Amino acid sequence: MKVFGRMSWAVLAIGVTLMVLCHVQESEQIPPTITVVGLFDKEDIKQQMVFGYAVDRINQERVLGKGTRLISRTEKIPVGDSFFAHKRLCQNVGAGIVAVFGPQSSKTSAHVQSICDALEIPHIETRWDFRTRRDDYSINLYPHPSALSKAYLDIVRLFNWKTFCVLYDDNMGLVRLQEILKTPKKNEFKIMYKRLPAGDDFRPILNEIKMVEEYNILLDCHTEKVFDVLKQAQQIGMVTANYNYILTTLDLHLIDLEDFKYSGTNITALRIIDLSRDEVRNLTEDWHAGQTRYSNRLYGKGELMMPKGINMTTETALMYDAVQLFVKALKRLDNSNDIMVTASDCEQESSWGHGNSLINYLKVEEMVEGLTGAISFDPSGFRTDFWLDILELQRPGIVKVGYWHPSTGANFTRTNGEIPTNMMEGIQNKTLRVSMAFNDPYVMLAESAEKLTGNDRYEGFCIDLLTEVAAKLKFNFVLIPVEGNGYGGFNKTTGNWSGMIKELLEGRADLAMTDLTISHERQQAVDFTMPFMNLGISILYVKPKKAPPSLFSFLSPLSYEVWIYMITAYVGVSLLMYFLSRLSPYEWQNPHPCNPDPEELENQFTLRNCLWFAIGSLMQQGCDFLPQAVSTRLVAGMWWFFTLIMISSYTANLAAFLTIEQMETPIESVDDLARQTKIKYGTKDSGTTKNFFKSSKFEIYRKMYRFMENEEPSVFVRSNKAGVERVENDNGLYAFFMESTSIEYMVERRCKLTQVGGLLDSKSYGLALPKRSPYKGPIDVALLTLQSEGRFHILKNKWFRQKKGGGKCKEEAGSGGGASELNLSNVGGVFVVLMSGMGLATVVAMAEFGSECWDIAKVDKVPLMQVLKDELTFVFKCKGSSKPVRKKPEESETATEDAYGSNDYNYTVKKPLT
Ligand code: GLU
Repeated sequence: MKVFGRMSWAVLAIGVTLMVLCHVQESEQIPPTITVVGLFDKEDIKQQMVFGYAVDRINQERVLGKGTRLISRTEKIPVGDSFFAHKRLCQNVGAGIVAVFGPQSSKTSAHVQSICDALEIPHIETRWDFRTRRDDYSINLYPHPSALSKAYLDIVRLFNWKTFCVLYDDNMGLVRLQEILKTPKKNEFKIMYKRLPAGDDFRPILNEIKMVEEYNILLDCHTEKVFDVLKQAQQIGMVTANYNYILTTLDLHLIDLEDFKYSGTNITALRIIDLSRDEVRNLTEDWHAGQTRYSNRLYGKGELMMPKGINMTTETALMYDAVQLFVKALKRLDNSNDIMVTASDCEQESSWGHGNSLINYLKVEEMVEGLTGAISFDPSGFRTDFWLDILELQRPGIVKVGYWHPSTGANFTRTNGEIPTNMMEGIQNKTLRVSMAFNDPYVMLAESAEKLTGNDRYEGFCIDLLTEVAAKLKFNFVLIPVEGNGYGGFNKTTGNWSGMIKELLEGRADLAMTDLTISHERQQAVDFTMPFMNLGISILYVKPKKAPPSLFSFLSPLSYEVWIYMITAYVGVSLLMYFLSRLSPYEWQNPHPCNPDPEELENQFTLRNCLWFAIGSLMQQGCDFLPQAVSTRLVAGMWWFFTLIMISSYTANLAAFLTIEQMETPIESVDDLARQTKIKYGTKDSGTTKNFFKSSKFEIYRKMYRFMENEEPSVFVRSNKAGVERVENDNGLYAFFMESTSIEYMVERRCKLTQVGGLLDSKSYGLALPKRSPYKGPIDVALLTLQSEGRFHILKNKWFRQKKGGGKCKEEAGSGGGASELNLSNVGGVFVVLMSGMGLATVVAMAEFGSECWDIAKVDKVPLMQVLKDELTFVFKCKGSSKPVRKKPEESETATEDAYGSNDYNYTVKKPLT
């Protein structure tokens, strides 16, 4: 018994020692088990599984070290049952836990958060939460809605949306988009709000959006609903290349978008999970396959941790990151403190001693390698600093095209080279519906002996052009002639468009094509490609007829103006000759050369002689007397030069006039047309030409429009062809305003017709597309390439000059255009020379006259002024062509008798002949 008693004491002592030792060891290191609790909504299996998986993986990889295991307790809470959540949480804290994860439900979350705050146990959430304040012991890994909605605002701005429809599922959607709703810039966007109805038929609401022609849609709904909404949108024709969608779901990668990726619709979304990282890819694959490397080893074959087919949603990724983040923070806490896990009591509100430190480590921990990128928190425990991928649905699938960060905003990462490639891809293999209107030579019915089908039934400039564009961009097209052959006119009363523009607006065509003029009005409703032809309005009229020979056609070489100037010059030169010859002493000649002392001097340039002299020279005949003085010779020389030039010009032009047939041209410009009322004029009804006159600011065009409007029968015609026929048939009594390119085409083939005057305006033809059509970019690029290759020119030559009787009127073209009369601008220089000569001659004559008077005054010792007065009086008396020779003073009989035997002279000197 004694031995037994001693032994029992020894065993007791060893036991106590071991217990003490164990206690000492325990107090120095992390406990062998750390328990965390996850509160999950009952149905949220995925979150529960990811939570368990993440914890198991930590244990498997021995992340905590020293043999410590992380124990996860999963509590399934009925959604919104705060009482139950409270009960389960308090049971768990009583057993000693260091962190609480979840729940996802907002109703229970606030309750759990306040308990954790009171007990100082870190609370980690991964749910969408729009509150702006949270308790001290709580953090949330889900990006804060204010930051997310800023990201959507940046994307909307990046896409330059001016109007869009917010299609939302519940009021939370509006909270999610709060930054857009309170747009900082006033009137930056025109936003329409539509709520998705309960149930699963979204077509009525989608139809409403379609009716108001809104092409930009910001869709905020649960990820599971997105497919249905898009599918129904597709059924009513809203998943076409014209539509743009921004989806607010962060889980676009989970939606089956196969049906939409060839539609050309621009579908954009954001994603926080960084799928490019290997770990994410591996995990996604494992989860998706329903098998994890760790679970097999841990639980043995056949017992799978993950149910087959689980996907990596944003929330599951966040839960995984939450566990990883917690473990990192725990390890940092372990490095600086001995962690003691104590039981807490909800009733007593006894707090956990390390909770404060752990929550601080959680907030400052930067876990760069999270599945959702770098994780960091602001002081309030919100995640506001994160990166988002900008995703776009393209033909290969979802493609990352850019990124977003609060500091940089939204940025595209695709290169310049990729953009056109993407653009081109959008149109490849598509079949475009092309609405077209007939007009030669742009769109015509093909002439063939065989029965043609499909697109082969049509031919023309535009058809060839489109075929070349389609070949470049690898798309197909089907040609649909528009009903009524209408181009597209806007009815201001009804507010409706007609013709091809209507077809585009109502979604029955992707492209409109013919000689469709790019106009401001049309540009409001549709988009135009770059122009493929430039033109302007001009007048189509019959060719001028031959004028009947005129009796006075000899007058034609010179204009009336020139004839009048010539007659004036003739009279002027004759008069000048007359006066200068009287002024110049050298023109006063001895009438009898044998008598050295004549009584009288004679001037042969009487007025009649001057006129005869000038006409003789003009007719190239000359006359029997010639000037003697320098001044009068200058006059004669200049006149001869003048007549030489004028007569040569007249002769040359007369020859041209006599050989060329003269044409009768009643109108030569739009002003001629406006000035008269005999020739009627009109335009194509409902076209840009009519609109030009209707809306012109120029009075002359407005007046012409009024004239056209009031004419009976109407001068407006249904088509260009009808207008052309009317010009031909009305025999010069109708002129048609048409676009210059069409006139060019007509006058090549209808030889009776011609273009009159220049262009009234300048405009271009283009292909029209619905607004924001994604095909515009690629078609523009293709047209530019064709232009640089000179294809426009080649096609124009083919259809305007060669095909369908082109060049028919070429031979006759030479017969038009005659010589035109010479007007003052042609011969004005000769008049100038003549006038300068006359001026010079006058100066010389005055010099001669002055010098003669000076001599007389000197020799006769008479005051110069007296001589000047006497001589000028004689000259301007314009009487008589002879004057007596002046006598010297001593020869004078009476001092009062004038030198020429006249009382007009005050002195009696008889001037000897010089
Ligand atoms: N090209 C014109 C248009 O697009 C039609 C012809 C015209 O008005 O002269 O409306």
